[in-house]
Amino acid sequence: MLQINVAGLLKANIGTARDYVIEDTIEIAGSHRVVLGEVNLMRTDRSILVKGTLHTDIDLTCSRCLSQFSLRLTLDIEEEYFPRIDIYTGNALPALEDSEAFTIDEQNMLDLTEAVRQYALLSVPMKPLCRADCAGLCSVCGRNLNQGPCDCPPMPADPRWAKLSQLIQSDHETSEKERKGMK
Ligand SMILES: [Zn+2]
Ligand SMILES: [Zn+2]
Repeated sequence: MLQINVAGLLKANIGTARDYVIEDTIEIAGSHRVVLGEVNLMRTDRSILVKGTLHTDIDLTCSRCLSQFSLRLTLDIEEEYFPRIDIYTGNALPALEDSEAFTIDEQNMLDLTEAVRQYALLSVPMKPLCRADCAGLCSVCGRNLNQGPCDCPPMPADPRWAKLSQLIQSDHETSEKERKGMK
């Protein structure tokens, strides 16, 4: 579970730590993903410090060949979770300066879901590649070149360009002759 009851840990001495095995499914970028790993929770003077390594995967579109692929992610999590109530009195604690900080709810549940989602999205590359040497798509016929070469001739010597420049040339010569003929 990504939700851990930390009531006991909040009552423990500063420096007390516990390990938890994580195995859960959460929604990341619109699809359900299995999250596996281990985290260590430690009581600090003001919070619970979470450290651990989690694994999940995410579906991406290759920026070169546009195929769908699944990328395995390793998330090195390190986050502080702040209690909102005093564990002994149940009274609300003063509001945190950092409103973005992760908190432990009134039932003493520490929820890792949002942190895992944020870490996963941050570890997605700007230009994902299905593989490092992805050959991409042919810019003429659009074939996925990872599945083999296409029949297009090599770009610099494309005969259609040669033919086109011949046409331009002959057109130019024709108008030249016409102009001379008019004189
Ligand atoms: Zn690709
Ligand atoms: Zn081609």
